[in-house]
Amino acid sequence: MNLNYQDLKNRFGESIHKDEKLSKYNWFNLGGNAELFFKPKSLEELKSFIKYLKKFNIKINIIGAGSNLLIRDGGIKEVTIKLGSKFSYLNLIDENTIEVGAATLDRKIADFALQNSLSGLEFLSCIPGTIGGGVIMNSGCYGYDISKIVKSVKFIDKDGEIREMPSSGIKFFYRGSSFNPELIIVSVQLIGKKNKQTDIEKKQLEFIERKKISQPSQIKTCGSTFKNPTEKKAWKLIKDTGCHIMTVGKAKISEKHCNFFINEGGAKSSEIEELINKVKKKVFEKTGIDLELEIKIIGQK
Ligand SMILES: Cc1cc2nc3c(=O)[nH]c(=O)nc-3n(C[C@H](O)[C@H](O)[C@H](O)COP(=O)(O)OP(=O)(O)OC[C@H]3O[C@@H](n4cnc5c(N)ncnc54)[C@H](O)[C@@H]3O)c2cc1C
Repeated sequence: MNLNYQDLKNRFGESIHKDEKLSKYNWFNLGGNAELFFKPKSLEELKSFIKYLKKFNIKINIIGAGSNLLIRDGGIKEVTIKLGSKFSYLNLIDENTIEVGAATLDRKIADFALQNSLSGLEFLSCIPGTIGGGVIMNSGCYGYDISKIVKSVKFIDKDGEIREMPSSGIKFFYRGSSFNPELIIVSVQLIGKKNKQTDIEKKQLEFIERKKISQPSQIKTCGSTFKNPTEKKAWKLIKDTGCHIMTVGKAKISEKHCNFFINEGGAKSSEIEELINKVKKKVFEKTGIDLELEIKIIGQK
């Protein structure tokens, strides 16, 4: 059974789009179109969309801020969902707990925690994603990661019902989690520890400064391309094997941080992917280390 666009349009109006340009929704500014793109205006609308999709058994792709996604040039068949502004909110629900919508930017959460004198969330000011993407990736830096601050996650299951999972139900590991990628996170409860605002601010500013020094800014990238192998740094392996000067078309590697791959402007996704594969191959040949991707590559070639 195929999805009927007109029927979807009648039911979901302005929230559903055909052939939406995905390059607008990721940090590389790359990728083809989404055949069906849904940006729900409310939780109720998202629930009814998932219920509607149930009988079609169709794959769903969720996009957060697109700061960890390389979307291929052929775009995404099936369905793409991007949570809209109704999913970006922050509430203090008790002294130590913040509830945030899944599309809330990590940076905003760090600022909100600071305003409410909650420590432990300062590192979020350095991660350019949403909290939904953060839970999937177990994002982090400077010894902190999402696993340390999540209390529970609310999501929509395949029947379109809202469910809640405590963090103990999710296995978090280095740059990933066991959270089922087919479920849609709608909100997350985060825990902080009461502390002096001046101390929190100091730490937050220190982290931001460290990032500025070590990483490039204002470029089209998805941050670290590869995970660091045990007791090694991916950027050092790339540099030591001479891969840092490799290019493919308009895809290159940052001079400031060799694990950041860049769309110099006008690159194709296929060029970034080819550069990734070339680097992976050469590092393996020279060191025997098989680099594992941190960014996610999705869509059709
Ligand atoms: C300049 C730069 C610096 C970075 N620095 C760091 C860093 O220091 N540490 C670090 O860990 N990462 C870093 N990243 C990577 C990235 O910001 C994180 O992985 C971030 O958490 C991804 O969030 P996102 O919203 O952009 O997710 P996306 O990239 O949009 O998606 C990532 C994954 O999460 C899934 N997803 C997103 N939202 C939801 C949802 N609501 N429900 C279910 N699944 C969802 C997607 O389907 C996908 O599988 C950096 C990236 C850039 C561009």
